[in-house]
Amino acid sequence: MAIWGEISKGAKDAAAFTVKKTEEITAIAKLKLAIHSEVGKLEKCYQEMGELYYEILRKDVDNSAEVAALLLEADELKTKIAALKAQLASVQRGIICKECGTQVSSEYGFCPICGTKIADDKVEE
Ligand SMILES: [Zn+2]
Repeated sequence: MAIWGEISKGAKDAAAFTVKKTEEITAIAKLKLAIHSEVGKLEKCYQEMGELYYEILRKDVDNSAEVAALLLEADELKTKIAALKAQLASVQRGIICKECGTQVSSEYGFCPICGTKIADDKVEE
């Protein structure tokens, strides 16, 4: 029954691989969505800053405290976006083809260079 053991192990490995792949794709989608959302907040922040600055120039209103608060908010958002992008890059780059050493996006099941099935052993940071 050694053959059955091998077949069953192979099927289990394939299933585990598929689950892992699905989890990675979900993680990538979530990260992309989070980045999109934070970029949206940053754009809104820039727009508000622009409007406040317009008031300063046109109406001579002192709203520098509000501008300063928005500056801090923009800094925080930029830090957050950079961290999310780094996280996304690490999830995406993750896999190295054992045959040819190409870095393969975890979105692919096979190496686009040599066609080898991609093992799910990750590169340690
Ligand atoms: Zn390869």
